[in-house]
Amino acid sequence: MQKNMLESLRRIVHEVNAADDLQAVLNITVMRVQETMGTEVCSIYLRENELNRYVFSATEGLNKNFVGKISMAPDEGLVGQVALREEPINLEHAEAHPKFLFMPGIGEERFSSFLGVPIIHQREVLGVLIIQQVERRRFDEDEEAFLVTVSAQLAGVIAHAQATGSIVKLESGEKKAAMARFRGLSGAPGIAIGTTVVVSPPADLTAVPFRRCKDIDAELKFFHECLAAVREDIKTLGEQLSTRLAPEEQALFDVYLRMLDDNALALEVDEFIRQGEWAQGALSRVVLKHVRTFEMMEDIYLKERATDVKDLGRRVLAYLQAANGGPVDYPDRTILVGEELTASVLGEIPSEKLAGLVSVKGSSSSHVAILARSMGIPTVMGAVDLPFTQLEGSEIIVDGYNGHVFFNPTQDLYSQYQAIYEEEQQLAKGLEKLKDLPCVTTDEHRLPLWVNTGLQADIARSLDRGAEGVGLYRTEVPFLLRERFPSEEEQRKIYRAHLEAFSPMAVTMRTLDVGGDKSLPYFPIEEDNPFLGWRGIRVTLDHPEIFLVQVRAMMKANAGLGNLRIMLPMISSVPELEEALELIYRAHDELAEELQVDLELPEIGVMVEVPAAVYQAREFARRVSFLSVGSNDLTQYLLAVDRNNARVADIYQAFHPAVLHALKKVADDCIAENKQVSICGELAGDPAAAILLVAMGYNVLSMNAANLPKVKSVIRNISLARAKELLQGAMTMESASHVREYLESVLLEQDKTTILRPYISKVSD
Ligand code: PEP
Ligand code: MG
Repeated sequence: MQKNMLESLRRIVHEVNAADDLQAVLNITVMRVQETMGTEVCSIYLRENELNRYVFSATEGLNKNFVGKISMAPDEGLVGQVALREEPINLEHAEAHPKFLFMPGIGEERFSSFLGVPIIHQREVLGVLIIQQVERRRFDEDEEAFLVTVSAQLAGVIAHAQATGSIVKLESGEKKAAMARFRGLSGAPGIAIGTTVVVSPPADLTAVPFRRCKDIDAELKFFHECLAAVREDIKTLGEQLSTRLAPEEQALFDVYLRMLDDNALALEVDEFIRQGEWAQGALSRVVLKHVRTFEMMEDIYLKERATDVKDLGRRVLAYLQAANGGPVDYPDRTILVGEELTASVLGEIPSEKLAGLVSVKGSSSSHVAILARSMGIPTVMGAVDLPFTQLEGSEIIVDGYNGHVFFNPTQDLYSQYQAIYEEEQQLAKGLEKLKDLPCVTTDEHRLPLWVNTGLQADIARSLDRGAEGVGLYRTEVPFLLRERFPSEEEQRKIYRAHLEAFSPMAVTMRTLDVGGDKSLPYFPIEEDNPFLGWRGIRVTLDHPEIFLVQVRAMMKANAGLGNLRIMLPMISSVPELEEALELIYRAHDELAEELQVDLELPEIGVMVEVPAAVYQAREFARRVSFLSVGSNDLTQYLLAVDRNNARVADIYQAFHPAVLHALKKVADDCIAENKQVSICGELAGDPAAAILLVAMGYNVLSMNAANLPKVKSVIRNISLARAKELLQGAMTMESASHVREYLESVLLEQDKTTILRPYISKVSD
């Protein structure tokens, strides 16, 4: 078995991935495992969360009449033991085990040997996979390893099918559908409760939403018209190529035409339409099924046919979509859901109707997330398990704080989120009056709140919230929105608009920070390990022509205003900093000579984003005017947790003691050097964190405009002395959760009106 193990595994996974629903996934699994391992029995027990029992869900070799009808509690039987211990149990003589539970009728009395392995997805036991045999023997190591591997590989598919299943069940009117939660990443903060509209790119068979059709006969007619149109296209194509193709190649077009015949694939599509599905959905379902079948074939020629079927399917889909391409009737509180939402979809929907966004792919630095933050639209990115095509027209909750999406929430959860949503609306109104008040503690300590910007649209929003300066202008944003590097003059104009709008307040412009997950379409950087590769200052030092043009544009834009500050991203050593400073001085001198003016040199600062910079903070501080902590990257590098990976989002902890100690050290070092210290990562916009940061001695907090009023309200309600006490307590704690709980309990106690609740309470997992 060893030799074919990988191949067998690959085939099982492929086949299971192509299955229509959860039951098919389970049936295929038991059938293929039993066949591949040559055992007499293979069964699956799946956990039913609401009942807290493991239900006999599929079998090959035992009595199938009992499927779905019997179940075990976690403390019952060997199944319960495997689930409870979260490890395989391999027995030569199962009946002799004290936990063995006899289930009459199912037919397992003949089978002595038993091997059960847990099916675990994201730390949760979904069920148990079992093989059994009459012959009394212990399954060998290879067999155990194989079963564990199959189980680990299938866990994700089962979880996905379960989630999809609960959605389908609900749509078909079954009451028993369970709540489904999907994890992603926070794209933009906030809560949205609304109705989904699925956004599908044209002619993409995998992104067609599930919809019911209103008039079955009309839908059938429409489908056959589109089919006929594609047949005509193929005929024309064949004729056009006839002189250039050999007869056997020409024959291919006849094959295509036969596939498009009313009596081939179309028959299956018709069947689904008759059951009430719209033509686009029925077509994509049938075509994808055939594509998968062809892809699984051994024969290379047949395998290749998958491409043909897909191509024909796309052509028909394009016709179906073109005819349905009228304006979408967006419901109130629309939540746009798609595989990969792009910034352009935001332009298609009336802004008063847009409540939230969910994208299966992408991260917080995708364009759409940047725009969403600027527009204040709660957004979840990277919700990789979301069966988005099944969600059309569903009520969902988007938790943009935690990056969660809830489908069919329990009444309890719904009420909790509704309450948070309402309080947020109220809070926003309540906080408006803070706009012109200073950010000052009750014992008169001043803490200026600045904003992070990137788009032109951020300007109005920031001023509206009472920003006192810009602590981070991400200059890569205008670069990202273009098709080539902007020229010096183009840049000057963009920077000038920013500087003028905020003048006389300071605007801190960060030099181009690309690489990592931010790649410019016209300057692609492809690396195996991009976050540890060519990014930030490393790119611009290797390309002084880009750096110099940018710095010149900034300084030209600053002429007559004088509110520019320049900030350098990703600095990890003194030589790197000195090299960058040299270039800035050179640009400044050249420009002064060129323009024949006495050009003021702007203040220059360094971002503290990598652990090395924490330990060199003093050396850096001596050389520049200010340091600003980029806590997003600093957290990622200190904890070795990719900030864009939903799978490890739980351990990306901003309140991790290591992060807090690093933040404190940077503040202490800047204070010792008598230099300004600020922070411009997301942490600055967290009200609980703001208390610690003011106590550490941070002079400026720079954040997303949306968070500014909340932070201001917290700071205005606490004294510096009290904040210092809390900091002292927090610095002794050994885990992030302790720190957060500690701060939140203090905040809640302080705030009797619950006005603080929306942004400190996280709805628990
Ligand atoms: C940071 O890393 O904290 C930061 C502010 O920069 P960016 O999020 O743009 O990487
Ligand atoms: Mg950064």
